[in-house]
Amino acid sequence: MSAQTVFVSGANGYIAQHTVVQLLKKGYNVVGQVRSAAKGDALAKDLKNSHFSYEVVEVLEQEGAFDEALTKHPEVTVFLHTASPATFSAEDNERDVIIPAVNGTKNVLKSIKKVAPQIKKVVVTSSAVAAGSLAQLEDPKFVGGEDTWNPITYEEAVKGDPVAAYQGSKKFAELAAWDFVKAEKPNFKLTTVLPVYVFGPQAFRSGLKSLNLTAQVIIDVFKLKKNDSIPALESLFADVRDVAYSHIAAFENESAEGKRLLVVSGRFNYQNVVDIVRKNFVYIPGQLPVGTPASKDIFDHYKKLNDSNAREVVGIEYIPFEKTIIDQIKQYLVEIYRLL
Ligand code: NAP
Repeated sequence: MSAQTVFVSGANGYIAQHTVVQLLKKGYNVVGQVRSAAKGDALAKDLKNSHFSYEVVEVLEQEGAFDEALTKHPEVTVFLHTASPATFSAEDNERDVIIPAVNGTKNVLKSIKKVAPQIKKVVVTSSAVAAGSLAQLEDPKFVGGEDTWNPITYEEAVKGDPVAAYQGSKKFAELAAWDFVKAEKPNFKLTTVLPVYVFGPQAFRSGLKSLNLTAQVIIDVFKLKKNDSIPALESLFADVRDVAYSHIAAFENESAEGKRLLVVSGRFNYQNVVDIVRKNFVYIPGQLPVGTPASKDIFDHYKKLNDSNAREVVGIEYIPFEKTIIDQIKQYLVEIYRLL
């Protein structure tokens, strides 16, 4: 039997690149969607693998956007939809963030139903912010997860700040996917993956300036000076390699069909990042504030979250925070030294 072919939208993204690498390693053929030939060529050059090809779809939110790409690839049986604005900035919340996310998701599913009925599995990358607001997720007492939804309304997402726009974009895109399946009864089974803050190395080094939003959060620790206070950020994290693998587990396991998978490894705060840097990168600590080195207990304070679907389907021991941070920083050590 020939290898299955998996279509990955947003293939050049931080999470998607790792997913593509892991898919190719497992023997799948991959067709990636990118927004320009330059991005597709760059990814193909990094991957150096004849089982990877790409298609350019420039505007996700256009009706029928994926018809042509999917018609060209009748061999595709699995679709991973990761492309979505992953940003906390926008000039116009609805135009720049919410519509590309929501209509992009609807278009993917419509195209699959219309021109690619052979596709049997669809995985949509949602976000933990579809399950709870950022504030709820940051609260160690929050009880929720795979069975809850962010209370944000569409109007609040449109009229709020860009962080509200992002939260709304993920909630309403995921809801649109579940609604589509309910109303249209397509041939495919749907699974959604809901990652928390994703950290860890890039699949391919591409320069500090092109890091995605969340990877940048970690590198920003090197902007701190000795007398600065440590940012109060405290939330939940997952390693990018585990999040990538979750997408694969999501279509390989029948038990994932129709489920939401909340991928959360543990809890972290910014003090933890500083502590890890001070412990592991001996030439850097002099530049950084000391703060109040954190108690280890913080890592256990997320256990009220419901991530049981993911724990069952993904079924791996997640990468611990210290390794995630060390691997991410090591990748850019030379550039980081230049920043100091
Ligand atoms: P990323 O590196 O910024 O990748 C985003 C991908 O989506 C890129 O391929 C990007 O294409 C594409 N994209 C962005 N805006 C688009 C638009 N308006 N139209 C079409 N394509 C667009 O971010 P990532 O962290 O890997 O995110 C991937 C997915 O994971 C997203 O759905 C995001 O919401 C979700 N997620 C991420 C995190 C996290 O912490 N990183 C957490 C939860 C969920 P270009 O390169 O051409 O811009």
